Amino acid sequence: MTYIRKIRKDIVIGCDVDGVNRNFISSLEQVYDKYYPNNDRQPVTGWDLSLFFPIKKRIWEFIYKHYSEEIFMNAPPYKGMVNFMHWLNKKFTVHIITAQPDPKSEKYAKQWLIKNNIEFKDFYCTFQKESLSYDIIIEDSPIMIPRIKKEGKKVIRIVRPWNDPIEGVPSVRNIKELKFKINELVKEM
Ligand SMILES: [Mg+2]
Repeated sequence: MTYIRKIRKDIVIGCDVDGVNRNFISSLEQVYDKYYPNNDRQPVTGWDLSLFFPIKKRIWEFIYKHYSEEIFMNAPPYKGMVNFMHWLNKKFTVHIITAQPDPKSEKYAKQWLIKNNIEFKDFYCTFQKESLSYDIIIEDSPIMIPRIKKEGKKVIRIVRPWNDPIEGVPSVRNIKELKFKINELVKEM
């Protein structure tokens, strides 16, 4: 007899978009090189994007004012995430929780998920992720992770070059580790 792990739709898993599902950085680098072919940039390895592009703080208007559709809609999903999100939705209730600075980028976040067949039950756009309700949240932001932890909520850190380990927060480097950690946390619920 095949052992089927229990479906737990009573458990809500929150999941971020950029840096977790969507590889926005690789798309930004590609679009930047297209419009500034001779403008040598550094690979993005930190949270403050203005440090890696020669146009410095103007990178924010480059992203959000001029090329948001091109950057966000053409960004690839991180490897394995589409299948992972399908698995997650079969077992749990999945809420997308993303922080976007304007209605246009919020719209592109939602459209991008649909375009890439990434499933979810509900969609929330907020910079106050720590005040929403969920059982576990999957996050990459070095700003958001400590705030969520401080609220006493369970957060899983996706390891990226722009975030550091935080005591008491589990870190995962790939889908296998992510699934393992979720199953482990859920067992206690
Ligand atoms: Mg993120």
